[in-house]
Amino acid sequence: MTQKTETNEFQAEVKQMLDIVIHSLYTEHDIFLRELISNSADALEKFRHQQLVEDEVFDPGASLEINITFDDKEHTLTITDSGFGMTKEELKKNLGTIAHSGSKNFLSAISEAAQKDVSLIGQFGVGFYASFMVAKKVRVLSRSYRTDEEGYEWSSDGTGSYTISPASGLHRGTKVVLELKDDCHKYADEYTIKNIIEQYSNFVPFPIKVNGGTVNTVQAVWTRSKNEIKDEEYDEFYKFISNAADDPMLRLHFMADAPLSIRSLLFVPQENFEVLGLGRLDPGVSLYCQKILIEQHSNNILPEWLRFVKGVIDSEDLPLNISRQALQDNMLVTKIRKVITTRFLKFLAETAKKDTETYEKFWKTFGIFLKEGATQDFTHREAIAKLLRFESSSSEPGQLISLAEYVERMNEKQEEIYYINGPSREALENGPYLESFKQHDLEIIYALEPIDDFVFSHLGEFDGKKLVSADRADLKLPETGKEKKEDKADGKDLDKPVAESLLKWMKELLGDRVKEVKSSDRLVDSPAIIVNPDGFMTSSMERIMQVQGKEHSISAKNLEINTSHPLIAGLADMRINDENFAKNVVEQIYDNALIQAGLMVEPRNMVARSYEILERALQK
Ligand code: ADP
Repeated sequence: MTQKTETNEFQAEVKQMLDIVIHSLYTEHDIFLRELISNSADALEKFRHQQLVEDEVFDPGASLEINITFDDKEHTLTITDSGFGMTKEELKKNLGTIAHSGSKNFLSAISEAAQKDVSLIGQFGVGFYASFMVAKKVRVLSRSYRTDEEGYEWSSDGTGSYTISPASGLHRGTKVVLELKDDCHKYADEYTIKNIIEQYSNFVPFPIKVNGGTVNTVQAVWTRSKNEIKDEEYDEFYKFISNAADDPMLRLHFMADAPLSIRSLLFVPQENFEVLGLGRLDPGVSLYCQKILIEQHSNNILPEWLRFVKGVIDSEDLPLNISRQALQDNMLVTKIRKVITTRFLKFLAETAKKDTETYEKFWKTFGIFLKEGATQDFTHREAIAKLLRFESSSSEPGQLISLAEYVERMNEKQEEIYYINGPSREALENGPYLESFKQHDLEIIYALEPIDDFVFSHLGEFDGKKLVSADRADLKLPETGKEKKEDKADGKDLDKPVAESLLKWMKELLGDRVKEVKSSDRLVDSPAIIVNPDGFMTSSMERIMQVQGKEHSISAKNLEINTSHPLIAGLADMRINDENFAKNVVEQIYDNALIQAGLMVEPRNMVARSYEILERALQK
């Protein structure tokens, strides 16, 4: 063998690229290792495939792995793989030219980016050349898997040319030796390297050995076919990626090839750590491309309201070197997000159908996130709406219904879906808002969480039926033909002129605090009720905005009065006999109605007043 060393100039585009890599530089130096490991993993993947189609390969017994060693005296770092390897021509072509089609455009884009904003450069695939960020000299010793090829050494300091010379005694594959720059000696260190691998390359589907010990314990489970994977393996993988001690509650292993290539493995944990007081969750899904990490705990790959989901999404359609900034508005990422979110919601719907018990457990733990989604995510609103669960006047305490079930048993005269917000089932059932529903024999949904009214108002409708809060002033219940007349309070309706004068007087008394005082046709047992003349806000929504300290003052409501209630008849009389005391009664009726609407009242004023009223009641 002749020991001839060739010196070759890099292609102009490579020079330009190297100049950018070396001089403008990303700040994230660590990624050079990800690039090299990724190249090795690719070469191993390619070899694995080639071995299947070829009769003879060089070094067939060599195990498929990546070895990393270093010399902290010489300050070198060596990455060796037993992959595909490169011939002399391949070394020249792959490491001396830029393979990108349209490399001119590519380079002008990259240099423009480098001039504008150094961090932008990360989105361009610099691959192998990233080694020159940390190395003053790079040697690549490679031997192709082809039996009739010899080994070669490629070497360069990245400044304009490289040399190639024959190298003997090489095994199949590629060895990249980095002579580290003076300020990069830290990379010749086991701890540092292991950390970088754990961060970026843990799921590479080949063993990565550092000084002989395998570092990546977990394989790329998500890329394997479902029927090959045991439940325990899934669980172990889940525990690894989410640092959990228990098994997941739900699992979705989803793969697609067209139109997008997606391998995803998603888990729902047992607990909602957000309500356990651990603060807002970070996203739990990491984005991979061909088993190489692109973004850990990605903010981009799933909508924010799915932050409780743990797992991995892998798409080989993504460019490996895409930067985090570029992920944000990458069209492909947007498409993947949509596909996976849709699929995940479908999976939840299937679970709800097949395994109600598990779904209800899921709902109780994570339903709040779906509600968040319903208020934020226009795209998936309808799918989310189908997954919502509530108690209702027709369900047993604790039993949950879906909006679809509600619609299915709606009265044929009924066109709207009714709901009412309250702190508990008991409070709602003892309050004034349900009275007319009981009377008309209409089902009403109990919205027991503060966010519920926002959910309903964002949804607007379900299955073509408007969602209507029962505290609306313009509520008009249909005649269902099932009205219960006997429930009506037995008091006689006040004479019209008496009633009109009483209501007018009450309005004067309450002033701007109420918009209108009206006679009610929705009340049965209660003397009064607060309703919302504003068609958008419910009392519950206003209360939340007030509690959250948003500059929100409660808008004036309508006070509806049950003019056939004995208390109101008594009030009409009292107004003539003792107007001052009657005023106290009106204030108390108003406050009581506000309390039932869940709106805040100043309790101290009320206490003094209620003593006065009690005193009067006990006088004889
Ligand atoms: P990319 O990986 O994006 O194609 P690189 O600059 O990292 O760009 O590598 C250029 C080419 O060099 C690769 O496409 C591959 O053909 C070859 N190559 C790099 N590293 C290896 C390796 N460890 N084994 C075999 N081929 C390699």
